[in-house]
Amino acid sequence: MSRVPYLDLRAQYRSIAGEVNAAIAQTVESGQFVLGPAVQAFERDFAALCRTRHCIAVNSGTSALHLAFLVLGIGPGDEVIVPAMTFIASTAAVEYAGARPVLVDVEPGRWTLDPAELRNALSPRTKAILPVHLHGLPADMEPIQRFADEHGLAVIEDAAQAHGASYRGRPAGKLGRLGCFSFYPGKNLGAYGEAGAVVTDDDALATECRLLRDWGAEQKYRHVRKGFNYRMDGIQGAVLGVKLRHLPGWIVGRRRCAARYDRRFSALGIKRPVDDPGHVYHVYSICVPRRDELRTALSDRGIDTGIHYPIPLHLQPANADLGNSEGDFPVSEALAGSFLSLPLYPELDDASVDRVATAVEEALGAAKA
Ligand SMILES: *Cc1c(COP(=O)(O)O)cnc(C)c1O
Repeated sequence: MSRVPYLDLRAQYRSIAGEVNAAIAQTVESGQFVLGPAVQAFERDFAALCRTRHCIAVNSGTSALHLAFLVLGIGPGDEVIVPAMTFIASTAAVEYAGARPVLVDVEPGRWTLDPAELRNALSPRTKAILPVHLHGLPADMEPIQRFADEHGLAVIEDAAQAHGASYRGRPAGKLGRLGCFSFYPGKNLGAYGEAGAVVTDDDALATECRLLRDWGAEQKYRHVRKGFNYRMDGIQGAVLGVKLRHLPGWIVGRRRCAARYDRRFSALGIKRPVDDPGHVYHVYSICVPRRDELRTALSDRGIDTGIHYPIPLHLQPANADLGNSEGDFPVSEALAGSFLSLPLYPELDDASVDRVATAVEEALGAAKA
């Protein structure tokens, strides 16, 4: 029997090859390799998805986060509150801006930044909160925003995993002052290389983002800010423009797979986060004891899996300078030891979902016996 891959980008390519090849060829033909009309069109369409006034296309999700901190004036001496269970880019971007990430734990039922932990992390230096919509499920933004308002803090969304997700009917990206997206190839909306974007409703912040992404140039060779080369490639804009039209259908496909898994796993009592209609299932993760054994058993049955993420940020060797230690964030630590991400992508058929679910069921049953 063939393997069930964790992700199959070639299956997606096959479904859009005609359109996407034509868009790439047109961009090459135009000679507009950096920004240009394809990127502008994508910015307009992606802002529409997020229902924001602005979208600024950049060269990665990390650059998007970096710009968001810079345009809010966050820098040396400032602190930004970040959940411990996320990808390392979330803290790295705070540090690129010269500020200090202050980690907090995540909620046991949602796996995103725990609003009840904010008070412990607050200091006179706190300037912003960076909730991360982990696995495509938006953080519980209402209490986070309320806390931010009470203390005069900015909320920036790390929406790198949450294209098209929503929280109480409002789109990810529109929930904070600025929303930051990644279009890394494996994300739900992925480029054919590196890419990212900042979205916002704030005209002045958008103007600053545009300046900083392109060398601080207000016009060619007149630099009014110390800027960066954070521009999106024309080819990535063309690819993303084509793929964005398919995103709503792909989200439907992801939700179909997730619902099918959910039905099987709820009967088994397997731990999952709260049900939320705004979830876009960038990752479908279960929590199981003896995770590594299950992972091996699934691999033996031809099923590839992932772990997002095996080490929380406070236990990453690179983050030793943040001053945290084991035991500081027990929920994140427990999740890191029990998370297992199962195959899930829009093209995955029902038979394969059932095959994975049955393999999980059998492996867990065998482990119990
Ligand atoms: C992917 C990701 C990023 C970084 O995006 P890049 O485009 O790889 O720079 C940041 N935060 C989270 C939560 C991510 O998943």
